[in-house]
Amino acid sequence: MKIDKSAIQAAVQTAHSDFTSDQGGQNASYIPYLASVDPALFGISVVTADGEVFETGDSSFEFALESISKVFSMARAMDEVGLPQFHEKVGADPTGEPFNSVIAVALHDDKPLSPLVNAGAMSTVSLIPAGSAEERWQKILATQSAFAGREIKLSDAVNDSEQSTNFHNRAIAWLLYSGGTMYSDPMEACDVYTRQCSTLVTAVDLATMGATIAARGTNPLTKKAAITHPDIVPPMLAEMTMEGLYTASGDWAYRVGLPGKSGVGGGVLAVMPGVLAIAAFSPPLDPAGNSVRARKAVAQIASALNLNLYNASDYAT
Ligand code: GLU
Repeated sequence: MKIDKSAIQAAVQTAHSDFTSDQGGQNASYIPYLASVDPALFGISVVTADGEVFETGDSSFEFALESISKVFSMARAMDEVGLPQFHEKVGADPTGEPFNSVIAVALHDDKPLSPLVNAGAMSTVSLIPAGSAEERWQKILATQSAFAGREIKLSDAVNDSEQSTNFHNRAIAWLLYSGGTMYSDPMEACDVYTRQCSTLVTAVDLATMGATIAARGTNPLTKKAAITHPDIVPPMLAEMTMEGLYTASGDWAYRVGLPGKSGVGGGVLAVMPGVLAIAAFSPPLDPAGNSVRARKAVAQIASALNLNLYNASDYAT
């Protein structure tokens, strides 16, 4: 499918000017660092599966990856342990509950269901084969970097802020351990999960990470493979459809029709397989945990470019 490249830049600019004065939402406050980020920041980027980069606004500001990190640890775990085992141990269904729900774990025999909620993400981390927590962390960091096409780094400021307040996640990790769905030491898994959320990316990095998914796991800027098994990409996209935008995932699929993922740092990513990825960042969140400006901008750009996975007839040649 070919998209007029000038239409991409126009859609990115229009979305930025349409939503920049939107005052809706509030920064996440349960992680002190996130509460302190300037709420006016707003950046957008599109990266195509053949490596063209479009950007506007605060697209080079580095923000915390947060929940979007779950996508890339999921990729690493699927790639290393294989799809059947990953599916059996973690799952592929929406929980219908908030991202940090304890009730969702209790309701489903301690099975996390989705790798894109906190329980499933920690279980996913624990599945990645490694001899130590440090080795597991380095694998996750290398995977984030391979998808982004540059060295992604941990923010000590974000990590310290999260590690000193992540008691709820620690409780979930122990719950999973008691139910047999945590495959390493639970506090190690929680620690590594917290670190993976505390790396910094720009909107351009995030769009590049998504474009690597769109290009079946090969980074379109570096031309290097970020995964060894491209057949994990469709299940990754399915998981993103199920649970990518928290409890608003169904609404997102209905209205936008693209697999996506958001994080409480204010990032939102959407992927049109084979074509491109759209990323936006702005800190204030709606009650579901999705950035207000970023969610609107990504949805509008997708619509302007006529990108919707469920409109397959539009792409028939
Ligand atoms: N580190 C955050 C947490 O575990 C990430 C949550 C998110 O972005 O949804 O609470």
